[in-house]
Amino acid sequence: MALSDEDIRRLGRCVELARTALDAGDEPFGSILVDAAGRVLFEDHNHVAGGDATAHPELAIANWSVVNLTPAERAAATVYTSGEHCPMCAAAHAWVGLGRIVFAASGAQLAQWLADWQAPQPPVAALPISTVAPRLAVDGPAPQYRDEMKALYAARFRP
Ligand SMILES: [Zn+2]
Repeated sequence: MALSDEDIRRLGRCVELARTALDAGDEPFGSILVDAAGRVLFEDHNHVAGGDATAHPELAIANWSVVNLTPAERAAATVYTSGEHCPMCAAAHAWVGLGRIVFAASGAQLAQWLADWQAPQPPVAALPISTVAPRLAVDGPAPQYRDEMKALYAARFRP
């Protein structure tokens, strides 16, 4: 599925959340959960600065959705995220039965930029969501946010 104007608008909020995280001294990743009617149910950004490297917003969304949504509601929901889910979050998303994922910047882009900057790579391989959870509907990256995401990542990760 191509990215709609609505998708682009939703991704803009995720990029905003990523900037909020960066400004708060955390890593620039932000995500939102949107139900079938278009309501934003939950939004979050990275909270890894506290020492828990698994405190990713996509994992928080998966955990929240299990408590608060029925399986049918989860399947009909969409997760928008500034950066493509890491394998941990992609697996959690698939295990809890959430629906479509739309991301602004891909994991491959981040891995390439980190390599270009000679920055440390994360401890988990940058496998695409489509490799971890092949039956999920996934769209991205969004070229509109490429430069902004690269700048946010550079501010945090570029040595
Ligand atoms: Zn993750």
